[in-house]
Amino acid sequence: MGNSAYSDMKIFYHTEKIEAIKRNERTAPVYVRIKPTNVCNQHCYYCVYADDQVFENRRVDRRESIPWDKMQEIIRDIADMGVKAVTFSGGGEPLCYHSIIPTLEMVKEAGIDYSVITNGQELSGKRADLLADAKWVRISMDAADSGTYQKIRNVDTYERIVNNIEAFAGNKSETCTLGINFVVTQDNYRDIYRLCEKMSGIGVNHIKFSPLMTKDTQAYHAGIMEEVADQIKRAADDFSGKGFGIVDKYSGDMMLDENFQKQYSTCYMKYFFTVIAADQKVYFCHQKAYRPDGMIGDISRCSFKELWYSEETTKLFQKMDAKSECNFRCVFEERNMLLNRLFALDRNHINFV
Ligand code: SF4
Repeated sequence: MGNSAYSDMKIFYHTEKIEAIKRNERTAPVYVRIKPTNVCNQHCYYCVYADDQVFENRRVDRRESIPWDKMQEIIRDIADMGVKAVTFSGGGEPLCYHSIIPTLEMVKEAGIDYSVITNGQELSGKRADLLADAKWVRISMDAADSGTYQKIRNVDTYERIVNNIEAFAGNKSETCTLGINFVVTQDNYRDIYRLCEKMSGIGVNHIKFSPLMTKDTQAYHAGIMEEVADQIKRAADDFSGKGFGIVDKYSGDMMLDENFQKQYSTCYMKYFFTVIAADQKVYFCHQKAYRPDGMIGDISRCSFKELWYSEETTKLFQKMDAKSECNFRCVFEERNMLLNRLFALDRNHINFV
C-alpha cells in the first residue's frame, strides 16, 4: 500500500470524464461521498461538526439522518447514472445510521465500489461482514491507550475498538485495505510510535497522520512538530514493509500557507466528486459540506439524479469561482491544479510529446 491509494494521479484513469468536461457535457460524478447520519456515538473535542472552537466549524443537527426511502432512491440513482464509487462517512458515525446494513447490501448488489470512514465502535457482526468486501475501511483512531482515547473522544471504548480492528483485519477480503486516520493533537503526539507498533502487529495496512487544523494551526503545532516528525520516522523505519505502511500527511499539511489563495478559478473536481449529506442536501465537497455557500441543492423534494442534471445545477457550476469562494485549504488542491494545467493545454501541440 503506502501513498498510492491517496494519489492525485487517480483522476487520469477517468479519461471519459475528462473528455466529457472538455465537451461541456454533464455526466455523473465518478465518486460520491454519502454522510448518512449526523448521529454519533462519540464526542471528539475536535469534531468540526460539533464544536465551534476548531477551524472551519460546521455545526450540524445531530438528529438528522437520510430517510431510508430517500437512501434507496439515491442508491438506485447513482447506480443508474454510472457512479463508480461511494464512501460512507460523517457528519456523524456512518455505522450508527439506522439503515446501514440494507444500505451496504444495496451498494454491494449494485456493483459500486464502496468504503467507509468510521470510528470502529460498531465494526462487528453484519456490518463488518459487509465491509469485509469494501475497497477500503478507515478507522479514525488517535491514541495508543485508553486514557488518551478517552481524553480526546470522551468514551471508554478503546479496547473494544482495538478488538474490532483486529477481528476485522483477520476476516476482511484481501482486496479491502484497512487503514487508520490519526489526527495529531497536543494530547496524542506521544502515542504515534506505540500505535504504529500495535496496529502493524494486528494486520492494519497503513496509518495516515495529519495535523489537527485549528484557527492557528502553526502555533498549535509549534511545540510538538519536532517530536511528531521523529516518532513518524522511527515508526516508518521500524514497522514499514510486510503489508504495513505509513502515510505522512502531517509534514506536508504543516507546510501549507494558512492564508491560502487559490491560483485557479475553476474547480474541476466538482464534476468528479460530490457530497450527499444527512440533511438531504448535496454539496460541492467535504470542506463545503453543511455550509450554505457550499450547497448545490436540496434533494428532499426531488431525486439526486434530477438535481445533478438540472439546468440550475449546470448554471451554478458555470458560475462557481473557486478563487473567490474557496479561500481555504482544499483536499483536492493538487488534483484541481493538475486538471487546470491539463485543460489549459494548447491542443494544437499535443502530439509533439
Ligand atoms: S473547496 Fe476545493 S474541491 Fe471544494 S469546491 Fe472549492 S475548489 Fe472545489
